Amino acid sequence: MNTKMELDYQKAEEWGLFGQGARPAVIAGPCSAESERQVMETAQALRAAGVEVFRAGVWKPRTHPGSFEGVGTAGLPWLQRVRRELGMKVGTEVATGEHVREALEAGMDWLWVGARTSANPFAMQELAEALGGTEVPVLVKNPVNPDVELWLGALERLSRAGVRKLGVIHRGFSVYGETKYRNVPQWQLPIEVRRRCPDLLMLCDPSHIAGRREYVAEVAQQALDLGFDGLMIEAHIHPEKAWSDSSQQVSPCELKQLVEGLVVRAADTENGAYRANIDELRMQINGIDRELLDLLARRMEIAGEIGRYKHQNNIAILQPGRWEEVLERVFAYGREKGLGAEFLKRVFTAIHQASIDRQARVMREE
Ligand code: PEP
Ligand code: MN
Repeated sequence: MNTKMELDYQKAEEWGLFGQGARPAVIAGPCSAESERQVMETAQALRAAGVEVFRAGVWKPRTHPGSFEGVGTAGLPWLQRVRRELGMKVGTEVATGEHVREALEAGMDWLWVGARTSANPFAMQELAEALGGTEVPVLVKNPVNPDVELWLGALERLSRAGVRKLGVIHRGFSVYGETKYRNVPQWQLPIEVRRRCPDLLMLCDPSHIAGRREYVAEVAQQALDLGFDGLMIEAHIHPEKAWSDSSQQVSPCELKQLVEGLVVRAADTENGAYRANIDELRMQINGIDRELLDLLARRMEIAGEIGRYKHQNNIAILQPGRWEEVLERVFAYGREKGLGAEFLKRVFTAIHQASIDRQARVMREE
């Protein structure tokens, strides 16, 4: 198991990007900057809704050539205008060294790295070199594939190049086939990033996870329940007319309602009664974990005995039908206990695999 990462980063409270103690931290703005008017109208409405940090992509990584690939450098002066006239902090996506040079030259207050770029170490190295030592915060989206090491590796490249204002944005992972959300959240990955880098700013992008505006709020709430620091949400003055990601963008008015409807959970509390109760419950969990481990150890010992017995009788380890029979019994009893089949399958597949490994080891050693 990997221990905590050696990543040199500065806590987001010291960046001055988000208002003091703002929870959740909110970044909002259109998927793409389309025209000066669309950018200004969206930013004005968002500013009126209380948003202080504005996003808009000018270079857009699109799946198919021929789709709208962003207005490019021409969009940067529009973002400068948002900054100047509305006092918002503006940011855009960078994917190449040239993007970085132009974005920094245009005075962007922060930058983000997209999911297709963080998946590519060559691109990340190029970005790291172009960003070298910048004071501008850089937020790195998870790679499109669920690989924590690749995500952390992207951060390490930036950190080694001297970028200290680092954060991550969780935007879900690509899957093949029909799913409720456009990108499956697989929350265990950002949770692992938090375990390894506890003070790293962690935002969620519920828009790219949801893929549809009606699901954005529930994903945002789930992120806050898990302790994310904030959200990056796509908002457009006329979402249904957006040139990219139209179905997942919300209007500034919807954004305001959405943010107001969110429940922010405290990371911790000084409340004595709460502390005492939670400590008691945690002790119970620790005790149950021990019992589980004792049971698992006993199960493995018996698996070893089975291995020895099969070896003496010259029988193959894998017995067709046996695994299905185990699973069926587990599902039936699990259902009575209110445990989901998907969860049980994951747990018992891991146990079964370990037990086969143990039997194979015993056979080799006999
Ligand atoms: C975006 O934020 O508009 C974007 C392109 O996101 P992602 O890299 O998460 O697909
Ligand atoms: Mn988008």
